[in-house]
Order: sequence, then C-alpha cells, then structure tokens
Amino acid sequence: MSRVYNFSAGPAALPEPVLEQARDELLDWKGLGRSVMEISHRGPDFRDMAAESEADLRELLAIPTNYRVLFLAGGAQVEFSMVPLNLLGEKNSADYLITGHWSEVARAEAERYCRTNIVASGAENDFTSIPDTAVWECDPDAAYLHYTPNETIHGVEFDKVPRVESAPLVADMTSSILSRPLDVGRLGVIYAGAQKNVGPAGLGLVIIREDLLDRGLSITPKVFQYKRQAEADSLANTPPTFAWYVAGLVFKWLKERGGLAAVEAVNRRKAARLYETIDGSGGFYRNPVDPDCRSLMNVPFTLADPSLEEVFLREAESNGLYALKGHPAVGGLRASIYNAMPEAGVDALVAFMKHFHSNKG
Ligand code: PMP
Repeated sequence: MSRVYNFSAGPAALPEPVLEQARDELLDWKGLGRSVMEISHRGPDFRDMAAESEADLRELLAIPTNYRVLFLAGGAQVEFSMVPLNLLGEKNSADYLITGHWSEVARAEAERYCRTNIVASGAENDFTSIPDTAVWECDPDAAYLHYTPNETIHGVEFDKVPRVESAPLVADMTSSILSRPLDVGRLGVIYAGAQKNVGPAGLGLVIIREDLLDRGLSITPKVFQYKRQAEADSLANTPPTFAWYVAGLVFKWLKERGGLAAVEAVNRRKAARLYETIDGSGGFYRNPVDPDCRSLMNVPFTLADPSLEEVFLREAESNGLYALKGHPAVGGLRASIYNAMPEAGVDALVAFMKHFHSNKG
C-alpha cells in the first residue's frame, strides 16, 4: 500500500523525509550500532541531539534569550494542570478566554487549583468568532491569562497575538505552533503537545519567560516543575527520547523549507483553496466560522445533507483521502492541514469535494 493523504487532527501526518530518515537510522544511529531509543538520555550523544534540536527550534521561532525551552513528557492536557501549578505563585485566580472546546477544558482543569475568571466567551456565537479584546473582562489579580490561539475542533484561530496588558499571556499552541512566525516576546508561556506540527505524541513543548520560573506551587510534581526542568535541560527525568529526536528532524525539515515565513505562505495557500471550495459550493459544504478567524490548520465543514457524510468519508478513503471525520464533540467533517500536508494533498481533496458535489448536489 502506498501512503495516503492523511488529514488527521492528531496524531497527525509527519513529513515523509522525516519518517524516511528515522527509518534509516532506526537500527544504527550515528554509527552507535543502536537506535536513539536505546541510549542514555544523559550521555553526550543524546545531549548533543537535544541541544541541536533546541537551537533549531529557537532559530525557527526566533525565541528571545530570556526564554527557556522545555521538552517534557506528556502532551497538552498535562499542561492544563502544570500551567496553574507552575504559575499561580501567591495568587489564587487565573483568567481564561474561551474560544472553543480546548480552552474550556483547560479552564475546567485549572479550576481544580484556583478560581478561574472567564474574560470572555465565544459560546454565545457557537464559537464561530473570537470576542474582541475590548469586551474582555480581566481580573486584575489573575496570575496569568490563558488562551488557545487555534481551536483544533472549532477551527477558530487568532490572526495575531492579542494585545493585553494585565497578566502574562499563556498560549496553548498545540495545533498551531510552527505553522507561521510568532512574536514569542509577547507571550509569557507557550505550550504544545507535539502530535500535530512537532512530532510523535508523548512529548510536550513549553517555552517560558525566565522571570516566570519562580512561581511554582510546592505541590507541583517534581518532574513537572518548570524551574527544575529548566535547570536540568529537561533531563530531570527520562524524557520521551524518540519523540524528541523526531521533533529535531522536523525542525531541520522546516529549516530546509526556508523557515516559518515560507511555511506560512504554503499554509495560507492550502487553507485558502479549501475555504474557497467550501464557500463556493452554494451551501453544499459549509464552514460557519467568521472569515477573520478561520483556522489555517483545521478546517471543519458540514454537508447541507448530513446523511451524505458516511458516503463522503467512504468515497474519500477510496480516493486516498483519510481521517476527514469531524471531532465527536461537534460532528461533521474536518480537514486538518498541518505543515506536513503537501499542497498536492489539499488539491486532491478539493478535486474530490468538487466531484462529490457534482455527483450528489
Ligand atoms: N489543546 C489543543 C489545542 C488540542 O488540539 C489538543 C488535542 N487535540 C489538546 C489540547 C489535548 O492534547 P493532549 O491529547 O496531548 O493532551
């Protein structure tokens, strides 16, 4: 069987050259006669790889020197707890902006540790738009303000980092990190589960401004104390070594493609083609999200006749187009088009959607 176009929301498709290199190095990495999975994370070979991957990530995102980068076990939901545990300090409240499923799940988890204040919620508009910063009601005592720059399920994305003066901004960038350049200096903490644009599941990235490292609660599990992991170069416990190594290959692949500005241009073209197809279908396909905040990475859509969904998915698969089913929380269909989805994959999907429309419309 040849490879298919995989529109999975995550764990998502990885770049083929990365998979090929990982395959080629699986039995013998760097002439060690072993794979990267079979060596100590404390030895020089792993440490060299770790340092190089961090340097590449720093270059890609232009991470300022006063930020630390952590490669931790777990994924995004682990950070839903670790953010309050590491950032509350003396405070007992945190601000949350709700723009869809994941920001609400993050808020509900934080509520276990502190009071959460909803600064604004897109729920009133069924998460089809992002509340304007002018109406956000921030708590002056909040330890931080958490938001989700890209809502993977609802397909709602911020075009820019919002301007807020109150508390440090914390961003769950699980489904948008590395999709385009980012002004890291405007954020206090960025975190992301790896399984979409970074690498295999099991790894979590945390990028944190140094002055925020001293706010951890003493009950924070030791392996999840950002400060301790920063001091130990993320090696305070055994990290997910293979996932980290693959992430390093992905960073090299992104650099070879010309960095994030070049990647963004491709991502914008891919998303535009899909939204044009949906909007131009005369209502056969529909995406309800305000065009100003449509996601570049996750394109949810529905069919005017939902009974056609199963046929759509079946026929898509027989055309080599996989994992287009929407998240169970909202139903419908969804095309996730992360960095590793080639433009040809989106072209194939668009051609299939037009064909399906003309047959069934
Ligand atoms: N946040 C966002 C924005 C996500 O897309 C996801 C996963 N789809 C999560 C959090 C949860 O990630 P994990 O399964 O790694 O905990």
